[in-house]
Amino acid sequence: MARGQLTASVLDNYFEKTWELKRTILVVDDDDISATILERILQDHYRILRASNGQEALDILRSGEEKIALMLLDLQMPVIDGFTLLGIMGQAEKLRHIPVIVITSNDGNEYEVRCIEQGAVDYITKPYVVNIVRSRVNRIIRLYETSALLNAVERDWLTGLYTKEYFFIESDRMLRRPGAPQYDLIVADVHNFSLFNQRYGMEKGDKLLRIIADRMMTSLGGHGICSRLHSGFFAILVEHEYDWEKKLTWQPKGSIDGISLQQVVVKYGVYMDVDKNVPVFTSIYRTMRAINSIKKIYGQVIVYYDEKMRDMLNREQRVVASMEQALREHQFEVYFQPKCALHTSEIVGAEALVRWNHPEYGFMSPADFIPLFESNGFITKLDFYVWQETLRIMKEWKEEGRKLLPVSVNISARDFFIPNLAQAIINLTDRYGIDHHLLHLEITESAYKEEPEHIIATMSQLADQGFIIEMDDFGSGYSSLNMLSELTLHVLKLDIRFIQKNCHAENGRNNMGILQFIASLSQWLNLVTIVEGVETAEQVEELKRIGYKYAQGYYYARPMPRAAYEKRLEEV
Ligand code: C2E
Ligand code: CA
Ligand code: CA
Repeated sequence: MARGQLTASVLDNYFEKTWELKRTILVVDDDDISATILERILQDHYRILRASNGQEALDILRSGEEKIALMLLDLQMPVIDGFTLLGIMGQAEKLRHIPVIVITSNDGNEYEVRCIEQGAVDYITKPYVVNIVRSRVNRIIRLYETSALLNAVERDWLTGLYTKEYFFIESDRMLRRPGAPQYDLIVADVHNFSLFNQRYGMEKGDKLLRIIADRMMTSLGGHGICSRLHSGFFAILVEHEYDWEKKLTWQPKGSIDGISLQQVVVKYGVYMDVDKNVPVFTSIYRTMRAINSIKKIYGQVIVYYDEKMRDMLNREQRVVASMEQALREHQFEVYFQPKCALHTSEIVGAEALVRWNHPEYGFMSPADFIPLFESNGFITKLDFYVWQETLRIMKEWKEEGRKLLPVSVNISARDFFIPNLAQAIINLTDRYGIDHHLLHLEITESAYKEEPEHIIATMSQLADQGFIIEMDDFGSGYSSLNMLSELTLHVLKLDIRFIQKNCHAENGRNNMGILQFIASLSQWLNLVTIVEGVETAEQVEELKRIGYKYAQGYYYARPMPRAAYEKRLEEV
């Protein structure tokens, strides 16, 4: 059904069905008596939440835990007054659409007019007349929901599934229906869908989505509803099941115009017995974050959103909330891990690795926060800080007359969004007076797949200026031989998993073939190779035998604070 076909009778039907479900009204008033009177007038038909000032109201709205159908707002209040609150709401994408009725003591003064201008939809004057309050409230809510419904086109043009907007309305209705059964929410994400699109074109991408949508519809068999949220994201609300592992078989099979779908992976987040008291978009958001947590885990396709996950996500949220302050307060510290020559064990340089001394969680390893910062973009600020700290320390070493060895810093894929990244790095390095060839730049292999041309151009600009470019985590699976020969590159750092998989005592020498191959490849490409993650003397021997020259790993040293690294350098 398209937009125009939502007829009056459909709407009436909708309101009839849903009117018995109590919508929530937020009453914001510092006058307890006035708020209590409003509550009494409305409580038979609505659930009433109360806030005694604008700040409290904002906290409730921003938590997103409650879907607010309407707000009744007193103007004069402490902390944040009604007028200011309206202004804040008007600026916030998620709050702008909540209708607000202003409460005033006298009719039509200038203040109210300003509030209406500011976005309030109506006003009610004190003392309250019961029928007027009820009818205004009913009318406004109905008006707003009608227009929301009218705006919600029901079907997604591409897949024929519900649109996101319609799915939100419909699932909230299903969840809140009196006597509703338990429901599970499933979010499905076509892993790397944009890559599929890029590689094979939009038309094939569209076909893929249609195939997945069809499989979902067929297997739901009328027990639930599904929607395409956007690009390769789908949401399903379905009656509760105990075993999703067996049922989630919407993995596309076969091929599209000769392209095998074997490579396409769909990842699922499952939120069992979804909380009926929060709006479905909040539950979807939580489930999506659960999926995010397995995005990079090869082979894991299902993740459950449960209490444990909730705690983890809450912790993540608190980490995110404290990151800016952490940067200001220098809670991040740069550690150094030596890179060594295999034949002499001599230190030839170091990698700068960040650590976080968190006031609440203590010492945190990058694995706990880097992926988070990569997804929210903060990594860019943090990386800049790490580069700057590293250069500052190198400058001090220089001034103290120490021998300067190269130090490598990590550049994450997100950093390439910085306008003119190359110039920023050049300026920073020059500001500290460090020779360009002493600052090595590590870019992980997987970064190149995102926007290869831009990254290649930036890196070759930096290489022209004398910086040494290292490809980090080489062998983790993205670059082709072709690409390697096109890049401006000086050093390959073999991914840690390599040595752990291929050069292990139990595996013997059988699996060394690949390491041997990479050794000759890097010789052929004229690249220095550093093997990461070397932990044992046997590995060192084996690597020397094959012809490697450099390594970084616990066998030589763990990442250490600056002072410890300085001491290590003095020992030799
Ligand atoms: P990476 O760049 O591949 O860094 C090497 C990681 O391997 C480091 O983990 C290091 O401690 C660890 N490692 C070194 N030798 C061994 C070994 O023999 N055995 C084992 N099991 N591990 C070893 P770390 O410091 O926890 O960092 C993890 C990742 O976090 C780094 O991987 C890098 O991707 C990221 N990271 C760390 N600092 C920064 C930073 O300042 N900026 C950015 N963008 N990423 C960073
Ligand atoms: Ca690195
Ligand atoms: Ca690495």
